[in-house]
Amino acid sequence: MNGKTISHPPFSRPSKPKAGLLGIPSPATKKDLELRPPGFIYRNDDLCCESIPLARLAASHGTPLYVYSGAALRARYGAFEDAFRRIPHTVCYSVKANSNLGILRLLGKRGCGYDVVSGGELQRVLAVNRRASSRVVFSGVGKTAPEIDAALRANILLFNVESESELAVLVQRAAALKRKPRVALRVNPDVAVATHPYISTGLHEHKFGVPLAEARRIYGQIQREARLEAAGVSAHIGSQIVEPAPFCETVTRLAELVRELRSDGMTIRYLDAGGGLGIPYESRPEPDDFRAQVSAYARGIAKALGGARLHLLVEPGRAIVGPAGVLLTRVLYTKQNRGKRFLVVDAGMNDLIRPALYGAHHEIVPLSWDGPEAGSQRTSYDVVGPICETGDFFARARELPEIQEGALLAILDAGAYGMSLASNYNSRPRPAEVLVTGRTARVIRKRESFRDLVRLER
Ligand code: PLP
Repeated sequence: MNGKTISHPPFSRPSKPKAGLLGIPSPATKKDLELRPPGFIYRNDDLCCESIPLARLAASHGTPLYVYSGAALRARYGAFEDAFRRIPHTVCYSVKANSNLGILRLLGKRGCGYDVVSGGELQRVLAVNRRASSRVVFSGVGKTAPEIDAALRANILLFNVESESELAVLVQRAAALKRKPRVALRVNPDVAVATHPYISTGLHEHKFGVPLAEARRIYGQIQREARLEAAGVSAHIGSQIVEPAPFCETVTRLAELVRELRSDGMTIRYLDAGGGLGIPYESRPEPDDFRAQVSAYARGIAKALGGARLHLLVEPGRAIVGPAGVLLTRVLYTKQNRGKRFLVVDAGMNDLIRPALYGAHHEIVPLSWDGPEAGSQRTSYDVVGPICETGDFFARARELPEIQEGALLAILDAGAYGMSLASNYNSRPRPAEVLVTGRTARVIRKRESFRDLVRLER
């Protein structure tokens, strides 16, 4: 890959009218340009996933289509492994971010653990590798008795218990199945984070975890239960947090709790710092250095551990899989209402709900960079889906090159909380998913059919 490396080009910034499509002079950008390294790159005007032009994948598999880069997944997971290499740790990939078996398998081959929040997610992990259960942590405020039973039978690494009531059920189920699970309390450290309110979880007003002030008393109950082993402490303060400071604050509070619990006679071995490391969804003129970001995060956490002899667990989801995936969509219609111009595309909020749910920003780029759009001419578009909801949009008043009907677009950074939050709203079959490795593209989930939609109905 020769040519210039720009990971977050200011694609949508209208403030640079002389610049080419990606905000840098056109001639310099006409060759290889890394958009989301190492997965997505423009080669000779065509956006490729590794070595495969995305337009070719759209032609063979149709749109809307999720495409993931294996190289990007490996590199991003590897960044976490490298950053934490000096301390005993397990990176437990957060399955909810993207639970496709192909992705779980790819990461599992690199030795990852898994963070699950339901019996279904646990089953997915076990379907990929039964022995991976020894690297599974199970969080969630509403674990049912059958889900707890499945996790007990699988002998998972750690139950992150979120309430006293859940603890009582765990004791009962452990006795019934004659198991002795390792337990952590998920504590609510009351750390504020700058993120969307729907994905902030670490304040006392949120439903998650138990208040830090009550943790020691509840750990006392765990200690007295012959059927439980007080093995860890855990927290997860939210998602899409880009600064290391709130994580450090959380780990500092957890490490303090560990000291207290140890002085109470408990053998606490694990500290689970949760997930939540954010990614830059918006274009930026300077290249994004993901490895440096993860290193700063890891350094902060290591420092906050303060030499406590603990096995660290981290649960990243978005940071691993987000920029490793794109959603391809085709422009069905262009239309104009008074002065407002719309691109009506064939993907909808049922396929990628983040903009509708959180007002989230995703960069949108054309797959082909040929023709007049390579110039400086920009048009303001609302990029909208076909669903009967005004909230069904991917971008509003977005400056894009002139786009024709039939054009193919890529919605970037769609690998996390894209397909895993997809639904069949408006009776729309969910998209296919393709995993690319070099020159090979593998369908890791077929496009749903009408039969799939009605299969369980009578
Ligand atoms: N761990 C827990 C308990 C979560 O609830 C979440 C996300 O909500 C994660 C990990 C993963 O967060 P992220 O994808 O932001 O890393």
